[in-house]
Amino acid sequence: MGALTRRLLVIGADAAGMSAASQARRRRGPDDLDIMAFDRGNFSSYSACGIPYFVSGVVDQVETLIVRSPETFWDKQSIQVHLRHEVVEIDLDRGVVLVDHRESGHQREHGFDDLVVATGSVPVRPPLPGAGAEGIFGVQTLDDGVALRAYVADHTPRQAVIVGSGYVGLEMAEALCALGVETHLVDAAPQPLSRLDPDMGALVAEALRKFGTVLHLDQEVAGFEAGAGGEVSAVVTSEGTIPAQLVVLGLGVRPNVALAEAAGVEVGPSGAIAVDQRMRTSQPAVWAAGDCAEKRHRVSGRFVTVALGTHANKEGRVAGINLGGGYATFPGVLGTAAAKVGSLEVATTGLGEAEAELAGFVTDSVLSESTTRAGYFPGAAPITVKLVVEQGTGRLLGAQIVGKEGAAKRIDALALAVWNEMTVEELLGVDLSYAPPFSPVWDPVVAAARRAADRLSS
Ligand SMILES: Cc1cc2nc3c(=O)[nH]c(=O)nc-3n(C[C@H](O)[C@H](O)[C@H](O)COP(=O)(O)OP(=O)(O)OC[C@H]3O[C@@H](n4cnc5c(N)ncnc54)[C@H](O)[C@@H]3O)c2cc1C
Repeated sequence: MGALTRRLLVIGADAAGMSAASQARRRRGPDDLDIMAFDRGNFSSYSACGIPYFVSGVVDQVETLIVRSPETFWDKQSIQVHLRHEVVEIDLDRGVVLVDHRESGHQREHGFDDLVVATGSVPVRPPLPGAGAEGIFGVQTLDDGVALRAYVADHTPRQAVIVGSGYVGLEMAEALCALGVETHLVDAAPQPLSRLDPDMGALVAEALRKFGTVLHLDQEVAGFEAGAGGEVSAVVTSEGTIPAQLVVLGLGVRPNVALAEAAGVEVGPSGAIAVDQRMRTSQPAVWAAGDCAEKRHRVSGRFVTVALGTHANKEGRVAGINLGGGYATFPGVLGTAAAKVGSLEVATTGLGEAEAELAGFVTDSVLSESTTRAGYFPGAAPITVKLVVEQGTGRLLGAQIVGKEGAAKRIDALALAVWNEMTVEELLGVDLSYAPPFSPVWDPVVAAARRAADRLSS
């Protein structure tokens, strides 16, 4: 490293952090830019999204979930990745971070010119009685997934409780049912996946029951009981006690901002780090990307937190291009997401009915039932498409899909329509494909748009 070499430090070596590092490296060689990334965990550049499939054994080896390893990939890019190194303090006045080497316990300062904060999220852990018992897991990092799988192998739990029915909770329910564990799902809401409108949530509840999950909806968790050895033995809810030798918390996540906030980096109204479109924070040397950074919702216009790998990779890329001397902006989010619940696929984009009304829209929604293939074609299965439409203008504000094979990825066409502020009439006119093995002649998406357009014009 020469005297004029700039120093880029990255905190958090997963989706956002390593996207930023690799984009910066593409634009600046090692003589121009020294890049060092720290992660407190045992893995970098991994697929957290694959954790439920690793727990169930669908994915056998943990290595399969590591997309790029420090030894075989990052070293060759001249990007130093230090695992098991936790950044415990950022000193912006001196331009240094204090790093704790978790194995040796030694602490060391590292100087930087630019800093990317990509610390992700932390699982919400309510301060409930007994929450510290052994066998209660949050599932956020690959280390969490490895620990959970090892616990299941060592303790062979007969009963498990998932607390919270976000998509991670549902995926974990499916994983545990597949392992033969009697799985209970507790949620304070009256339906699973509360982001979905109630009519669509009911279809998901049915799918969960079908593969054996016992649902305890409209119930609050009040605490946890533990045996003499300190291992969890039951979950206490507002309605009773459910025996469990394993608990998975799926209560959602919150942005991991404590380190940056303590250094004086501004946190926005959503609770995530405030950034501009180039991913710059309130502090000139500090950038943020991924789950820890605030996003602007393109339909509501509000600042939101959304924990999705799709956003994290793109935001990291934008930060890295800018850090490498280029120019890029992040255009905001719709929260487009998909999940598999048994044989059912669930997907959403944009605003649900309640969210739209909260954002000041008057909505008119349509629900359209169709099939995934031409009705006569073998394998045709039901699919339900819901469109949330602005009354009067016919603008598409959001969409939800629940259905069998081939249903979820149809959300992408709807996401493009929402993104481009299209009306349902415009969507109806788009030249989408058709052949009997893939859809009816009126594709479920177009059929839903037609229904909405008919309603608007009647
Ligand atoms: C089970 C599961 C399933 C998911 N499925 C999907 C999906 O299907 N589709 C989708 O789009 N998204 C999915 N996600 C969300 C997606 O994984 C995250 O949005 C994405 O990983 C966020 O990337 P990130 O880089 O911002 O944060 P993370 O991937 O969380 O990485 C942050 C890193 O920072 C490290 N770190 C934190 N603090 C420090 C510190 N002080 N010092 C050093 N290191 C630190 C952590 O160890 C971690 O490795 C899923 C998440 C989970 C948990």
